[in-house]
Amino acid sequence: MTDLNGKTALVTGSVQGIGLAIARELAAAGARIAVHGIADAETAEAAVRTLQQAGSPEARFFAGDLSNPAEIDGLMEAVGAWGEADIVVNNAGIQKTAPLAEMPGETWDAILAVNLSAAFHIMQAALPGMASRGYGRVINIASVHGLVASKDKAPYVAAKFGLVGLSRVAALEYASQGDRSTGGITVNCICPGWTETAIIEPQVAARAAQMGGDRAAGIADLLSEKQPSQRLSDPSEIGALALWLCAPVAHNVTGTAIPVDGGWTAQ
Ligand code: NAD
Repeated sequence: MTDLNGKTALVTGSVQGIGLAIARELAAAGARIAVHGIADAETAEAAVRTLQQAGSPEARFFAGDLSNPAEIDGLMEAVGAWGEADIVVNNAGIQKTAPLAEMPGETWDAILAVNLSAAFHIMQAALPGMASRGYGRVINIASVHGLVASKDKAPYVAAKFGLVGLSRVAALEYASQGDRSTGGITVNCICPGWTETAIIEPQVAARAAQMGGDRAAGIADLLSEKQPSQRLSDPSEIGALALWLCAPVAHNVTGTAIPVDGGWTAQ
């Protein structure tokens, strides 16, 4: 069992979906959780309660729009004052699909800001403290689209490939910090395929509409194109992998991009 008592984790976008599932695993292992995301007060409070019930000794919500670097600075200052993050999960992300020729420039800018630049700013703020303590984990939630492309996803694919590259640079720069007893500093990406959360709903709805409004048929059709297992992932399965990456035993697993994609990128 991974013991995260005494550790503080910042999980961006942890009010729902994959972020909340990761935060729940870290909470159950005893970590203090800095909960974050775009959410109304009720949703934020519900996430905090969920994490306390899961076993977190302390969980608190921190606001901050990650498309705005000044708000990221404010977020990192507020979290730092509460307790510097030993574990950072850059999970928050957005998705919009359109052919390249029709993709609005503002959509490109927004997706690059939230899905890539935010991780840069957050890692820049968090990694030096991790190095001084000899333990740190950065887990960046990329995507299969950080490893292979699909049409109609130019900014998303560009941002996720960028996130994989950024993570490799950080992994190299911090690889020699700490030691086996402290756990070292590692920086890795998790690369999910289709996972059951709100972010895939517009794509599911569009495909379901083509199948006469049958949601299950729409999901099956999407899976049949690219995910050989033909099964969606549950967010908790991404959470379980994130928890494992936090364990001291994973001290030499760094600079990786681990697919959880039912064989998508094996093809
Ligand atoms: P989601 O839409 O349920 O969650 C996205 C989270 O990001 C929310 O908590 C939201 O508050 C936060 N967020 C969005 N914009 C923000 C902003 N400007 N500032 C601060 N927070 C912001 O989707 P999810 O599937 O849980 O997505 C989590 C991550 O997983 C994303 O990076 C996504 O790209 C990645 N991913 C998801 C899938 C999938 O199939 N669900 C597959 C591959 C990768």
